[in-house]
Amino acid sequence: MNLRLHNSLTRRLEDFVPQNPQRVTMYVCGPTVYNYIHVGNARPAVVFGLLARLLRRRYSEVVYARNITDVDDKINAAAKEAGTGIEAITSRFARAYHEDMARLGVDVPDIVPHATEHIAEIIGMCESLIASGHAYAAEGHVLFEIATFPEYGQLSGRSAEDMLAGARVEVAPYKRSPGDFVLWKPSSDDLPGWDSPWGRGRPGWHIECSAMAATHLGETIDIHAGGNDLMFPHHENEVAQSTCAHGGKLFARYWLHNGMLTFAGRKMSKSLGNVMILHELLERYPAEVLRFLLLRAHYRQPLEWSEDTLAQARATLDGWYRVLLDHADVPVEGDELQVPEEIEQALCDDLNTPAAFAVLAGLADQLRQADDSQARRQRKAALLGAGLLLGLLQDNPEQWFQQTSAGSEIDPAWVDELLAQRVAARAARDFARADEIRKTLSERGIVIEDGATGTRWRVEAASAVVP
Ligand SMILES: [Zn+2]
Repeated sequence: MNLRLHNSLTRRLEDFVPQNPQRVTMYVCGPTVYNYIHVGNARPAVVFGLLARLLRRRYSEVVYARNITDVDDKINAAAKEAGTGIEAITSRFARAYHEDMARLGVDVPDIVPHATEHIAEIIGMCESLIASGHAYAAEGHVLFEIATFPEYGQLSGRSAEDMLAGARVEVAPYKRSPGDFVLWKPSSDDLPGWDSPWGRGRPGWHIECSAMAATHLGETIDIHAGGNDLMFPHHENEVAQSTCAHGGKLFARYWLHNGMLTFAGRKMSKSLGNVMILHELLERYPAEVLRFLLLRAHYRQPLEWSEDTLAQARATLDGWYRVLLDHADVPVEGDELQVPEEIEQALCDDLNTPAAFAVLAGLADQLRQADDSQARRQRKAALLGAGLLLGLLQDNPEQWFQQTSAGSEIDPAWVDELLAQRVAARAARDFARADEIRKTLSERGIVIEDGATGTRWRVEAASAVVP
């Protein structure tokens, strides 16, 4: 079974063939840490994190780097507003990002390079681009001269005019051409800066990814991925810098881009004022619901994010957890969990998560219909194995139904105490008291079900979302 990926560079589905099967390399553009991220920025980390998992099943060594941009004008502005240095801002929000990713079930990449820890490599790359005639220094800046790279625009498929319009390029007296972009810029005393051959300054954004990818993964990498909003100018500029700094060597062999989130059909963006902050969503929804919704559409498609799609995601997971709850008595050991071949097959088809979830739903149905103990055990192991690769369904099913949100407000001990009182009331034939307890629980959205093995309780999905 071949892994096929849609390569933005060729605009085709291609078999993935790494340059060195002993060491597969992948770079994903990470966040600029000046605030909590909006949920759309979690999509590349979740989607390409899953790709890294899939690659690790197929190759002995995968080196996956996802950077942290910790020097940027937005960070400078946030630090100024807070009256602190940039380090206080970047360390705080990098930590929050890592915590939020962990809650989403995103594996930690092998390498998490920070831009500020690669200033020497960035300066070195600027120098080599100047030496090879692809960049020039002017008034404390270093600029990449796009006229020296005829392939400029190939990745994003843009014409020269489109690029000028799309980049809202700044016309500046120190530029030879308005499309030339900044590799290095001067810093005034109140801004973070490093000594360089061009005076005290700081890197432009694009150069950091080129420098960090080369440092950790090599001059030609297998996969470069990120949101499709980064294709131009960021990725286009990365291609120009890296290719020219490395004597024309191909920079990235496969380019992967994820689609954007929409809200009520409109792009989720700061300028439209409809962004949702991941950190806040994690307070209101189980992290697994967010992860599932982020994976539910094919990664190249837009993803509609709304209260409705969140409720649907929750309901689907509830259905699967319900089946697991009904088979909670079936023992399955961790080493019995095998990823079913159909799941891997779906993911190998350009990370087709909708197809993988269709398979998962089928596995849940099969488990639901299983009637002998061997079938129940095998099918439960298959469902859990599929969930393991996808980062879902690993919760204790009983606890799943008892959570209101990640920051649960209902104390299970309180529920258990009331249920014990209810058992006692019923034993004493005090049915008024028993009903009263049921009502108290119901007012908190807790549904109780009396069964042969005792009383189960769960939080109703509709009330599971804390407003
Ligand atoms: Zn980047």
